[in-house]
Amino acid sequence: MLRGMMMNEPLLVTSILRHAALYHADTEIVSRTTEGPIHRYTYAEAWVRAQKLANALAALGMQPGDRVGTLAWNGFRHLECYYGIGGSGMVCHTINPRLFPEQIAYIINHAEDRLLFTDLTFIPLLEGIAQELAGLKGIVVMTDSANMPRSSLPNLLCYEDLLAEQPDAFDWPLLDENTACGMCYTSGTTGNPKGVLYSHRSSILHAMAACMPDVFGLSASDVVLPVVPMFHVNAWGVPYAAPMAGAKLVFPGAKLDGASLYELFEAEKVTNSAGVPTVWLALLNWMDATGKRLTTMRRIAIGGSACPPVMIQRFKETGVEVLHAWGMTETSPLGLANTPKGKHRDLDADGTLALASKQGRPICGVQFRVVDADGRDVPRDGASFGRLLVRGPTVCSGYFGVADSPAHQAVPGWFETGDVVTMDADGYVQIVDRTKDVIKSGGEWISSIDLENIAVGHPAVQEAAAVAVPDEKWGERPVLVVVPKPGASLTRDDLLAVFQGKVAKWCIPDDVRFVEALPHTATGKLLKSRIREMVTGAPAA
Ligand code: ADP
Repeated sequence: MLRGMMMNEPLLVTSILRHAALYHADTEIVSRTTEGPIHRYTYAEAWVRAQKLANALAALGMQPGDRVGTLAWNGFRHLECYYGIGGSGMVCHTINPRLFPEQIAYIINHAEDRLLFTDLTFIPLLEGIAQELAGLKGIVVMTDSANMPRSSLPNLLCYEDLLAEQPDAFDWPLLDENTACGMCYTSGTTGNPKGVLYSHRSSILHAMAACMPDVFGLSASDVVLPVVPMFHVNAWGVPYAAPMAGAKLVFPGAKLDGASLYELFEAEKVTNSAGVPTVWLALLNWMDATGKRLTTMRRIAIGGSACPPVMIQRFKETGVEVLHAWGMTETSPLGLANTPKGKHRDLDADGTLALASKQGRPICGVQFRVVDADGRDVPRDGASFGRLLVRGPTVCSGYFGVADSPAHQAVPGWFETGDVVTMDADGYVQIVDRTKDVIKSGGEWISSIDLENIAVGHPAVQEAAAVAVPDEKWGERPVLVVVPKPGASLTRDDLLAVFQGKVAKWCIPDDVRFVEALPHTATGKLLKSRIREMVTGAPAA
């Protein structure tokens, strides 16, 4: 074997921000702050402040490998944490504040966080669990001294005061590219949350993939606003991908309602955004009610749960392209992204929408297999379904502090996603369901996602969930749980009529329950276990 003769330069995340500071020095980063005002600065200033933060961490006695938690919205200081903590050889552990307080305490302790950076918003939350956070050396409030809160929390530090004392330059360590730089716990709908540890190498490779034209398609002329939180799977990699491309970054802070997002999209001339379907539903409803249109937006990436075709259609009518994408905390997260190929140019409107509603094609670098119960590959015909397995340099190989990861044992070398899917000859994957949510009726499988997509296509439906209820004859039967739009009148028969001709007769839900609201997980997905409980009255198994 002959070794290549290229420089063995490690792939480190600091190289991204250094690049942006050198060649996109005056490109802006705009943040809606927790304190209120809009904050603006440039990549050049972010780079200096990331170095000040790295100096501050060293001064506080933090060591390489230490986990440093963040409990924060999308904002410029959170961005500085990504680079300052990761670049120092420490692990930026982003924590989802929407989890239950006891889960947050569990995660902080399980990760053994030594220091925690928090936004002002979360001081009361932390006060509530302070007793359980004995391992923390200190809590840094991401604000200036004028806005420091009165609090019973011990060892409270002020972010701006910490940075003010530090020199502008930091001697970044030359790390092995496999060093961990980030960490995110899965939301743990079953069992305790599990920690996924991202490396510098995986983060760089993922960011490069994210920038590609058929993924986020980012360039130096773009303005990117990640609605997806930086506390969940690194905001789908945007805080690394945007500076890599030299795109302007806009952070929405805590205000994620339709009106606030719209205002920022228009004021900052945002071209690309990304988030889960629930956020976009709120924005679309607000735009409908006010008659507003997005004037600069080009592409919105939607994933985390299935994007209903009606959402893709509604955005198309306002001139915005939807990029349906699939991913998991364990896959960094991007795995599939959906854009048409050249040969799809002549598809009619229905065919285009049907294609765009799939979750997308594999991103180069992530390998995909679809296998049956015996681990044999199923045909790539767009109809045969099976368990989705993935592998690649941006897929996790195990969980932090867990000796045995069952997800990695089923088929050695492959990560079991827990999703049931089909793949067609062109590589387009459609998620049929999560294994645990699929409705098994008389030996056949009914996709809850299919039923939900059809239900939300009814103009009087705001949100819908399809769940299995036990049935003596069929094993399970589907029932719809529906939130009608405010003021809309909707009957069971009206709604069930839309299923005629769209799915086989035996797939049509047996019943409809109308509710005022549906429960969601901390990452904005329908909480199916709770919804099943609402319908059957029995606690989840
Ligand atoms: P959690 O912590 O809730 O597991 P993840 O973000 O890791 O959060 O969830 C990953 C799962 O979300 C996938 O396995 C899949 O079931 C679902 N998912 C993600 N994107 C999509 C999508 N575009 N369509 C349907 N399901 C999706």
